[in-house]
Amino acid sequence: MATYIVLLGPPGVGKGTQARILSETKKLAHISSGDLFRENLKNQTELGKLAKSFMDKGELVPDDVTIAMIKDRLSRPDCEAGAILDGFPRTPAQADALEAMLKNFSGSVDAVPYITAAESILIERASGRWTCRAQGHIYHEKFNPPQKDGVCDIDGSEVYQREDDKVETVTKRIRVYLEQTMPLVEYYRKAGKLIEVDGTRQVEQVTKTLFDALKE
Ligand code: AMP
Repeated sequence: MATYIVLLGPPGVGKGTQARILSETKKLAHISSGDLFRENLKNQTELGKLAKSFMDKGELVPDDVTIAMIKDRLSRPDCEAGAILDGFPRTPAQADALEAMLKNFSGSVDAVPYITAAESILIERASGRWTCRAQGHIYHEKFNPPQKDGVCDIDGSEVYQREDDKVETVTKRIRVYLEQTMPLVEYYRKAGKLIEVDGTRQVEQVTKTLFDALKE
């Protein structure tokens, strides 16, 4: 049976970094809704143009377009064994839609690691984050800079600061998270799927806690 893991947590907590590691280790597709929107933005698709107006303000893209985008992504062949979902779902309506989609593949959400950290840490991490243009590899100007300034170590593409990683937008994204995404914590706790992980520590330590918790 396919395995589906949803990574839950505020912006800047390190979901993307952990999702990549999980995806490579467990050989499951990594689906980042934010990366999918950014790809559409880069390719100037209609979806990208629509998403941009919300992303620039730090707001959520409407549920119907987001759900349709993820449905399409989950139906691709590389998701046959399952997927690590990073940034989706972000509202209860998206979580319900996800369960309905997975039923079509005779699956359901297996586990929901919920990574947390204090708001001051989130702002420091997100506002110092640099992202690779080609594939979304993640760096931090202080904690994990690329070897060569402005160049991704892995694929050599440009490393840039996301428009929505500026401090004011990060603060707004955290507020939006608290209002619209926090209800999912109870949603998945009630379903017995929530695994709380302290995201304050260094990447390797968070990864270890995450893997140990998933084994149980
Ligand atoms: P992220 O890369 O996950 O921080 O997402 C960047 C931006 O993309 C968010 O601030 C939203 O504007 C949009 N976005 C990503 N995922 C979702 C989602 N599941 N629902 C609505 N909007 C989303």
